[in-house]
Amino acid sequence: SNLRRMTNTNPGILVILSGPSGVGKSTVVRKLLALGDPAIELSISATTRSPRDGEQNGIDYHFLPKEEFEKRIDEDQFLEFVEVFRTGHLYGTLRSEVEARLAEGISVLLEIDVEGAAKVQDKYPDAVTIFLSPESSEELERRLRDRGTETEEAIQRRLATAQHEMETSAWYRYRVVNMADAADDAVTQLADIIRQEKEERCSKN
Ligand code: 5GP
Repeated sequence: SNLRRMTNTNPGILVILSGPSGVGKSTVVRKLLALGDPAIELSISATTRSPRDGEQNGIDYHFLPKEEFEKRIDEDQFLEFVEVFRTGHLYGTLRSEVEARLAEGISVLLEIDVEGAAKVQDKYPDAVTIFLSPESSEELERRLRDRGTETEEAIQRRLATAQHEMETSAWYRYRVVNMADAADDAVTQLADIIRQEKEERCSKN
């Protein structure tokens, strides 16, 4: 039937989620993926930084030595890449995580910073951009300190970057506030946005 054909030709949508470190992005993303509806797959980024406690290669990131990352830049394997936090560490989205899935109609979620998001938006103007925001700068600072994994210098650097990201994210299509102890509300809002965007693409075709 026509209905079935329309369903099969659903284009996958590209969703870009950004937000300062400490805002709770990874928790929200984990819960969103666990819902299973709306269907979406996470792009695993590549990075040259070392794994933190509990992080696994190929699951949290593709952890690459700098030479390997640079080789892949030369081979044009990245959709975008940036250097974050002036630590000299590179982060990037591999084309292999994104292009084939979109072509097959599978939606893809990118969890990347504001600078990378702007680059992807240039290449994919239809990408849905969502900024996950803390309820206040004070709350963000509290959460960064609660992690207890980092030096004061690293915390200050993240706070400065967070401030900058919050100031330069006005162009995002959506803003979702992740209230303290209410990650599920943010997840529901994200799911609603993605579902609605999928439906809109579908009816356009
Ligand atoms: P973390 O070191 O805390 O895992 O991530 C630091 C920052 O890098 C976060 O803001 C995160 O969103 C961003 N990031 C992670 N992967 C990518 C990526 O592939 N591209 C870009 N541009 N940023 C990324």
